[in-house]
Amino acid sequence: MSDNDNDAVIILGGGVIGLSIAYYLSKSPDFRRRIHIIDSAPRLLESASGYAGGFLARDWFKPECAALGDLSFELHRQVADEHGGQRRWGYAGSHVYSMSLQGEAEGSRVEDWLLEGTSRAAAVGRRTEGHVSAPGEVVNGDGTPAWMVTQDGASWNVVSGAEDCAQVEPRRLCEFLHEECRQRGVEVHLSSRATGVVMDGDGSIVGVKITSTDNQPCGPRSLRCSDIVVAAGCWTPRIIESLFPRNRTKIEIDPLAGHSILYRTPRYAKPFMNVAHGQQDKFHGKDENIAYAIYCPPTESWSWAPEAYARLNADSKPEIWVGGLNHDGTVLLLPELATDTKKLISRESLAELRKVAVTLTGLKATDSQVAEDDLEVEWEGLCFRPVSRTGVPIIGQISPKDLGVGFHNTLGAKVWVASGHGPWGISLSLGTGAVMGDLVEGREPRVDLSALKPESRMGSKL
Ligand SMILES: Cc1cc2nc3c(=O)[nH]c(=O)nc-3n(C[C@H](O)[C@H](O)[C@H](O)COP(=O)(O)OP(=O)(O)OC[C@H]3O[C@@H](n4cnc5c(N)ncnc54)[C@H](O)[C@@H]3O)c2cc1C
Repeated sequence: MSDNDNDAVIILGGGVIGLSIAYYLSKSPDFRRRIHIIDSAPRLLESASGYAGGFLARDWFKPECAALGDLSFELHRQVADEHGGQRRWGYAGSHVYSMSLQGEAEGSRVEDWLLEGTSRAAAVGRRTEGHVSAPGEVVNGDGTPAWMVTQDGASWNVVSGAEDCAQVEPRRLCEFLHEECRQRGVEVHLSSRATGVVMDGDGSIVGVKITSTDNQPCGPRSLRCSDIVVAAGCWTPRIIESLFPRNRTKIEIDPLAGHSILYRTPRYAKPFMNVAHGQQDKFHGKDENIAYAIYCPPTESWSWAPEAYARLNADSKPEIWVGGLNHDGTVLLLPELATDTKKLISRESLAELRKVAVTLTGLKATDSQVAEDDLEVEWEGLCFRPVSRTGVPIIGQISPKDLGVGFHNTLGAKVWVASGHGPWGISLSLGTGAVMGDLVEGREPRVDLSALKPESRMGSKL
């Protein structure tokens, strides 16, 4: 391979989607082409993929991406089983509960508060399925998991069991994908941005022009390729606009900000449930620990629907992630670089987030209604969900005609998009990587993607 292999694949964006695509392409036995991941940030995982909650579901999706959701859920389990994901990125089946708290905002139901396609809570509101109980589960008097504070006047429902929901540590999953890609020769170019396409004399796209985002000289100024995959989350529309200024379409993906917090509490000191020997079949795998997901509606005390995830992390330490659609409502402009997102963190939003975390999981003195803050915070973060206007991801090729590069390019590089996964990019990541691998290799994708194609949603630009 040389720097100018004509048939290289260039993936723009090194979040969980870009990494998953590179993972499946580089894993394919017949695939011998060079793969480049170009990311504008100086470090990977400063975006949603590094700060997400890590909740996975099999079938909480709109019909258009139900098959992709099911495929992806199976692949998460398969990859975890093959590579020790239970230990390396905290993969575990998850029990899921919804909890209504005293003082729930009057007349509110979770799904009224949230735009479709932007939160899991809307799906929770529609579900009350059976609970797969297992031996060893430690619960409070009211039946809630023991790491939660017993809430006076609260009621709760079991939403789903570990056979259809799971959790991972998103950052560790991405690190695993990155390491596998690196070992198979995938090249990651950080602090780099594609600023234009290279055309041959016939007007066919034959490569991309690369410039540095940190004013340092960076490798070759252009990379030849036969496929360009734009998988840059919320930044995807900007990339399409800048590479194809004459494009007559728009990829509609909006950034939806969310603060989150990861912490430990003394009450979640060890995994609550080891599936007893002989019970594994019930959980369809080798899960030894069970994670917990709790969804709460807005209350008089907070205006958003918190999501709390408790799991054993890859360092064998129990941790809790709390987040949700909790940004205070001011419009946050997507920064140029993912690393600059930190500058937008709102102290007020973080303070409210911590108040929620303490209310749900802080130390509750027996004679007090108010929980105390004894949480040990690992990190507090802000990131942007890439939300498509239709609430499902956009996956497929953008035709040369739509890109405005002319008909000559039928022989030039193909341009693909894989983005707009909203609040579900971790769950849908491996499935997206696998089907994009199929498409780039010229195979029929393993699940029907016709409802996710870019063409089906593009409006004309006036
Ligand atoms: C608070 C929160 C909680 C979430 N919880 C969950 C969850 O529990 N389960 C779930 O399934 N999903 C969850 N999500 C959603 C999930 O995190 C996203 O859908 C997913 O991470 C999107 O991945 P991505 O690779 O498309 O984009 P990103 O992770 O945003 O990655 C985009 C990458 O593109 C790079 N980039 C930007 N501009 C350029 C450029 N010009 N050139 C090259 N590269 C560029 C960025 O630096 C970044 O590395 C959550 C999201 C948020 C915000």
